Amino acid sequence: MEEAKQLFKKLKIHTLLDLALIVPSSYNDTTLTFQPEIGKVNRLEAKVIDSSMYAGKLRVRFMLTSSGRRVSSTFFRVTPYHHKLFSIGSSHIIQGRVEEYKGYLQMSQPKSIKQVGKITPKYKTILKESEISSLIELYISEANLYNEGLDSKEVATLMHIHFPKSMEDVYENGSLKNEFIEVLKFVEAYNHLRKLRGKRVDFPVIDALNGDISPFVEHLPFKLTLEQQNVIGKIQKDLARKDKASKRMVVGDVGSGKTMVILASVMMALPYKSILMAPTSLLALQLYEEACKHLPKSVKIALVMQGKDKGDYLNADFTIGTHALLYKDDLPKASLVMVDEQHRFGTKQRATLEALVGSGEYKPHFIQFSATPIPRTQAMMDSELLDVSLITTTPFEREVLTQTITKPDFPNLLTHIKDEIAQKHQVLIIYPLVEYSSEVPYLSLEESRGFWESKFDNVYVTHGKDKHKEDVLLKFRENGNILLATTVVEVGISLPRLTLMVIVGAERLGLATLHQLRGRVGRNGLKSWCYLYSNFKASERLTQFSQTTNGFDIAKLDLKFRDSGDILDGTIQSGQKFKWLDMGEDEKIISYAKLRVRT
Ligand code: ADP
Ligand code: MG
Repeated sequence: MEEAKQLFKKLKIHTLLDLALIVPSSYNDTTLTFQPEIGKVNRLEAKVIDSSMYAGKLRVRFMLTSSGRRVSSTFFRVTPYHHKLFSIGSSHIIQGRVEEYKGYLQMSQPKSIKQVGKITPKYKTILKESEISSLIELYISEANLYNEGLDSKEVATLMHIHFPKSMEDVYENGSLKNEFIEVLKFVEAYNHLRKLRGKRVDFPVIDALNGDISPFVEHLPFKLTLEQQNVIGKIQKDLARKDKASKRMVVGDVGSGKTMVILASVMMALPYKSILMAPTSLLALQLYEEACKHLPKSVKIALVMQGKDKGDYLNADFTIGTHALLYKDDLPKASLVMVDEQHRFGTKQRATLEALVGSGEYKPHFIQFSATPIPRTQAMMDSELLDVSLITTTPFEREVLTQTITKPDFPNLLTHIKDEIAQKHQVLIIYPLVEYSSEVPYLSLEESRGFWESKFDNVYVTHGKDKHKEDVLLKFRENGNILLATTVVEVGISLPRLTLMVIVGAERLGLATLHQLRGRVGRNGLKSWCYLYSNFKASERLTQFSQTTNGFDIAKLDLKFRDSGDILDGTIQSGQKFKWLDMGEDEKIISYAKLRVRT
């Protein structure tokens, strides 16, 4: 048992189904064939009836025990061993490919094998063959599989895969049967969902919240979209619960109006306190301004950022801040904790978000907002861990034309840039790197800035490692014509006059990133352009991206092109972790698995 534990650790597996899902990569088949099958490897019982040398080769004729048919064989590199082994009258199980030549059966260089009647699965793992097969034999049994909640068909499939009686049992045209693959997909989804389910921990809530949102909603200059209303409705139900603290992720495209959901939630929390954390001070400031603009004047709002607080967070109903929030040891306890642009926090920072929620026995309600659209299938999976709401539409159609361009289009691009600037619009050009690198076939930010600065006024430059990037962005927002940057501008600052952007080396970026970047232009309904500049002919991936505007459709495209290989920067999110399941296609299987996990 202790030994098995060690092996499980080595395999990095945790459940019985993890083990069952380690499928043999091939089988070693030593079952006997009764009728010789032409063109295939056969194992046949045979007796030597003739053996002779001819032109340096050994020719042996066998008679097959089961049918009496003759098979002739030739051995090329003959040793005394062969003569002894295949002496006339000796009996063998011969193994080799059987061919038919003018009605005669032939088997070239047959082996005489000892062990017969077994199909041995071959597993490709980091364990020794003997170790993994002993684990399988020890743990994979009908009883154990039923115990995991599988039904008879699923159990039978897994038993066939690990302990086949014949090759026809498992293989069809040389690979695993389709119906087996369907079962494996299900088991994979089911196993994953059960693990997530085991991880969800619910806590009792500090305060049940049911503040009235109508003073806020009625004074908005617009009507909330149906999807905004739906999400708000869900959150109202969550927050009113007395038994457990809510955990929800609201996922909505850039510009889908998530801020309104945040503000409505603040209203629900009244008279209790809410806090909201944002990834950058620029964004925190923007949220603060919007909160001041849209929330009723009676709501006390504070801003906490390094060195520049606004309002009195000790007495505020709603405190907005950056990481600086985490360092205020006198921050009053809030009943509702929110995180905006959750996808912008690094993995390490995400752990600290939990700290925001506190470690007491009773927890505040916790809502996170993310603008990285995820495929519906992903949302279905994730919702075992926390509740997920999707906002898939935007309040107004943004007019952004996306086009792939190459070098010959550059003169036209320049003209277009001049036109936009003449109309007091702004231009953003994204470079793949800051300084020259021999590995990247594009000019860097530093190499290009001279060109732009010589041709245009008010050119601003910033990048990820730039300490002053927030300052530069603020100045650019006021006075700039052109901003040269790397992908840092992903951070959700709104630049209302931005109407044209160029992404240099677009083929190097994942679709999710491209979509985030494209979300920067046309935020105020101005007609806008997103040019994908590449040295190469446009790939199908980029072409389809150009024609797709909805972030959730992009997420689907992303799945489809995941393996297409023209992405170099690894921006695609932590890859596919399923061996059988296809997140793009298998929505039905996942939804069935969810049902089964619940019952
Ligand atoms: P997100 O945070 O999801 O990217 P925002 O909350 O910043 O989006 O909203 C984008 C813009 O849409 C803002 O200018 C906001 O005022 C506006 N907006 C939000 N909801 C609506 C609505 N229902 N109707 C019209 N405009 C809206
Ligand atoms: Mg937002």
